[in-house]
Amino acid sequence: MAGQHPTSRDSLPGIDGVFGKAKGMVFPRVVLVGHGVLEDLGRTCRQFDFPNRGVVVTGPKTSELAGNRAADILRSDGFEASTFVAGEATVAEVDRVGAAVHQAGARFLVAVGGGSKIDLTKVVASRLRIPFVSVPTSAAHDGISSPRASIRDGGNVTSTDAAVPIGVIADTQLIVQAPYRLLASGCADVISNCTAVLDWRLAVRLRSEEYSTTAATLSEYAAQEIIDRAGAIKPNLEESVWIAIRPILVGGIAMSVAGSSRPCSGSEHLFSHALDRIAQHPSLHGEQSGVGAIMMMYLHGGDWRRLKTALQTIGAPTTGRELGVSNDEITRALVMAHSIRPERYTIIGDNGLTRDAAERLARVTGVVE
Ligand SMILES: [Zn+2]
Repeated sequence: MAGQHPTSRDSLPGIDGVFGKAKGMVFPRVVLVGHGVLEDLGRTCRQFDFPNRGVVVTGPKTSELAGNRAADILRSDGFEASTFVAGEATVAEVDRVGAAVHQAGARFLVAVGGGSKIDLTKVVASRLRIPFVSVPTSAAHDGISSPRASIRDGGNVTSTDAAVPIGVIADTQLIVQAPYRLLASGCADVISNCTAVLDWRLAVRLRSEEYSTTAATLSEYAAQEIIDRAGAIKPNLEESVWIAIRPILVGGIAMSVAGSSRPCSGSEHLFSHALDRIAQHPSLHGEQSGVGAIMMMYLHGGDWRRLKTALQTIGAPTTGRELGVSNDEITRALVMAHSIRPERYTIIGDNGLTRDAAERLARVTGVVE
């Protein structure tokens, strides 16, 4: 059950003319989506032939919602299971959870919680080389099934390689109980794939960057699905979770296929990361990326109004005011965005936007009123 770590070799030295490319892709083996599927946790872990002892990593609130129940289910299926209540996804917390899991002799993990608990578990599982099952209780971004995790180190958030869950159990009955804002943010994150893929194709044309049609198509499909069904994604409606969760999971799969976050993270994500650094009160990752996508789609000369309408229909923010950030913060984030990750070539280029151009972009797309 080890070997969940993607590997890639772009080119092998060797005899001229011998094809030497190799790439590993890791996907979840079982994905269960639906009403009450948490009850299948024990059976699913049995299917994986997990050894006897596991730890449920959960949060203070999510332990009451589902974490303790998850441990009960495992026990009733004959596992020895305990719960560990973890904090935010920080470097220190990764060490703390890792040590506790190691001491407990756990041979597998179950992450029950929102994005930060899943990110923590992904990194701990990767370090200890043990498998894990992801049970999201909310879906605020597309990282649920991706091979990447965001970990905070002091004031900085870094995206790091991590294990892919061997199973994902997305119980719509649980996720609908999370604040609707989180689901809307997850949808906005997926809608932002539209500009990420355009940026990727631009980098292919200008920089001969490696491209995967499969990954790009999956990513675009996920965004299209959310845009097409935007009218059916509403608060307090379990069916909305049902509609949104699959495209959110598909985004993660696209990243596994590509072996990087490229299909789901372009200039709009650079804008979001810049805002995280600049804004006094940054907003949710998916919300910021959605607003970024409106502006970056304008720069691509594409139909930015279509993205804006879909976001508005879902109830995700489309303006700085709705994000809770100032006009000046929006402008400065736009100006800074290109410098966040220089190797990721996007529509904002190597030198980025001038302050003038940034102000105009925000105004013309209505992000700043
Ligand atoms: Zn994202």
